[in-house]
Amino acid sequence: ARERPPRRVTVLGATGSIGENTLDLIGRDPARYRIVALTGGENVERLAELAIHHKAELAVIADETRYEALRERLEGTGIEAAAGRRAVIEAASRPADWTMAAIVGVAGLEPTHAALKQGATVAVANKECLVCAGPVFMAEVRRHGATLLPVDSEHSAAMQILSQSPDVEIDKLCLTASGGPFRCSTRQEMASVTPEQALKHPNWSMGRKITLDSATLMNKALEMLEAQHLFDLPPDRIDAVIHPQSIVHCLVYYRDGSVLAHMSPPDMRTPIAYTLAWPERMQVPMPPLDLPKLATLTFEAPDEDRFPALRLARHALQTGGSAGAVLNAANEVAAEAFFAGAIGFIAITEIVERVLSESPELVDRAPGRIEEVIAIDEEARRRTREYLPAFA
Ligand code: NAD
Ligand code: MG
Repeated sequence: ARERPPRRVTVLGATGSIGENTLDLIGRDPARYRIVALTGGENVERLAELAIHHKAELAVIADETRYEALRERLEGTGIEAAAGRRAVIEAASRPADWTMAAIVGVAGLEPTHAALKQGATVAVANKECLVCAGPVFMAEVRRHGATLLPVDSEHSAAMQILSQSPDVEIDKLCLTASGGPFRCSTRQEMASVTPEQALKHPNWSMGRKITLDSATLMNKALEMLEAQHLFDLPPDRIDAVIHPQSIVHCLVYYRDGSVLAHMSPPDMRTPIAYTLAWPERMQVPMPPLDLPKLATLTFEAPDEDRFPALRLARHALQTGGSAGAVLNAANEVAAEAFFAGAIGFIAITEIVERVLSESPELVDRAPGRIEEVIAIDEEARRRTREYLPAFA
């Protein structure tokens, strides 16, 4: 067989949970890949280690003040060092065949957008991009002929199911949610939980923001909005169900009564591998799913009184416009405030609800460009910060 040239790959958010898992897979078959660029937020030490280990051409740290530290650490390695927000965007613009977009939050918007503009394959873990700028991103994908592959396990599952019969209308797409650490807690119990308790996820090991989002169920809210844009679905066809074992990731209902479900172990390397090998499949070193050992898979209806995030998601799906961007911005600010000890756990969704309901003129905007999305995001953040003291 003819040897394929190595694939040129870039990992945005290389030092995070998704970034590390991605590099773990790539590192198992190094001859197949050439690393163009790795980027990180603040952790110079880890970024440099990864860049050296994977022989990257370029390493970029987002925090400008850490440029000297990175440059010193990479001295004599031949790896280019850069720092700052613009440098991250430039790294994303360097020609690559495949890019992993795994920066967390709205900070990933411009770099992910820059990667898409190359018209190559972009694996998008950074769901906030689609939540805030879904229509803009999907239009850019079409314009540049890019291939956008979702990394979220539920959306990877959905894509695999929907690709079976792409032109058939579906009745419902149902994402599963583990329910997080407070699945069985009362509102009163949730009122006093600490960040440490919120960061104990039952099934997945992930970055801290998505772990908190999984506890409030805001992660599922974001994912419902993500699904709307990725699969171009009407709001009433998107649903969520609680499934504490995280084995089934998505279910698609058809009008003949068929329901197709996707299963895999709760390990992000499976959906990451799907984006790396697409349209083929690759070997991932993990034990096969042992259903008899698991014995029971259970499903529960979500309780929207205890977890208002799902109600907010439904509202944002129906509203359209910038509801997703406003919801996401308020959630990012509220999440940081919770980690900082400034507000309690249930205040997170309360604040998001307040900002959404009191910003109709912001929510009504339908941005056509990424710059407008960023302006809306900034305004929503400013408002959320104003509301914080009232919820302290
Ligand atoms: P993480 O916090 O572990 O990693 C985030 C990465 O982004 C790190 O490399 C960090 O240094 C970088 N970063 C943070 N702020 C930045 C900034 N301002 N500029 C540039 N880089 C910055 O998060 P994660 O769990 O890897 O999640 C990444 C994305 O993937 C999120 O959008 C998350 O919702 C999504 N996702 C994660 C998982 C998971 O299992 N971890 C599953 C599905 C989706
Ligand atoms: Mg997910």
